[in-house]
Amino acid sequence: MSDPEVAAFRDALASVRGRIADACARSGRDPSAVTLVAVSKTVPAERLRAAVEAGITLLGENRVQEAEEKAPLLPGASWHLVGHLQSNKAARALALFAEIESVDSLALAERLARLAPAAGRARLPIWLQVNVDEDPAKEGFLAADLARDLPAILALPALEVRGLMTVGRLAATPEEARPTFAHLRTFAAGLRAAHPGLGPGLSMGMSDDYAVAVEEGSTLVRVGRALFGMRPAA
Ligand SMILES: *Cc1c(COP(=O)(O)O)cnc(C)c1O
Repeated sequence: MSDPEVAAFRDALASVRGRIADACARSGRDPSAVTLVAVSKTVPAERLRAAVEAGITLLGENRVQEAEEKAPLLPGASWHLVGHLQSNKAARALALFAEIESVDSLALAERLARLAPAAGRARLPIWLQVNVDEDPAKEGFLAADLARDLPAILALPALEVRGLMTVGRLAATPEEARPTFAHLRTFAAGLRAAHPGLGPGLSMGMSDDYAVAVEEGSTLVRVGRALFGMRPAA
């Protein structure tokens, strides 16, 4: 007998993975090169238990406290932080998250590097969030600031910089999000040519646009609503 909630999550997961595979086929990519992070913000731990049982085990949260409340109830899951990290919560984030995708300043990178050894994190995987569209409402480095700060970040031995992350613009159609993703890819390639320590990762694509992001080279998609359904209005 299978729990209907678990079965529904299995179907949702297969559907998202299928769309990722289709996008890879269209763009000549290997689906195993695309990691799926299931963004579980606002989803209660009881529902997440069914998701984990269905194989949705890599979860993303945008708030440290919410992840701290849920993580002890979900021993089978591992966690990425995808939202802005206040520096006074850096130590707590280090204790919980396998990877921090939302590093958005040199000061935060330095703080994480300083705290990582005491947290038993010899080489903490991080991503550098870029505000590609220079949207004042969004977090992330402006491209020029990252170009300036990247050498100092790569010089921090406690950090492993896996790549760049961005949140696409609010778009009416997935196609409208494409220029942001293409821009992040070319920006990353240019930076990497000058600074080989920058990892090859591109974290881009959410529920409405992950297929387009994969076509544009995404190596990690952060998908919430397509797996968990609509979130309550904030
Ligand atoms: C909420 C969130 C997502 C997932 O958004 P969906 O539209 O639900 O897929 C991805 N990335 C970040 C940074 C988020 O805050």
